[in-house]
Amino acid sequence: MATTPIRIALIAHDGRKRAMVALATEFSAFLQQCTLCATGTTGQRLQDEVGLTVERLLSGPLGGDLQIGARLSVGSLDAVVFLRDPMTAQPHEPDINALVRACDVHDVPCATNVAGARLLLRQLWHPSQQQP
Ligand code: PGA
Repeated sequence: MATTPIRIALIAHDGRKRAMVALATEFSAFLQQCTLCATGTTGQRLQDEVGLTVERLLSGPLGGDLQIGARLSVGSLDAVVFLRDPMTAQPHEPDINALVRACDVHDVPCATNVAGARLLLRQLWHPSQQQP
């Protein structure tokens, strides 16, 4: 029986894009099975450097974070990997906060660093290994 693909949004600030490409490469066998969307530049890099099929939304500073927040708010996303750069001020900080808040409001899992993203992606990939 075919299962519905897991829907994941991927976002990385500029200082974290290399880490996102490495993470996506590590999990490419799983991510290929998922329905992916991403902010504009992140999505471009995932397409070009990892070979993933990704729906590219607007770039984060132009509203991409808000688009992803809107999608998860209506139940259209199962998880978010958002590699934020904690060392660099972002012009769209309110949008970033709105996205993370929307994840909390709607209880959508959101990993904001590589260690958390690995745990999240592993669990989504192999849910049967979940402990009681
Ligand atoms: P980008 O957006 O993938 O278009 O760079 C990410 C962000 O800065 O929020």
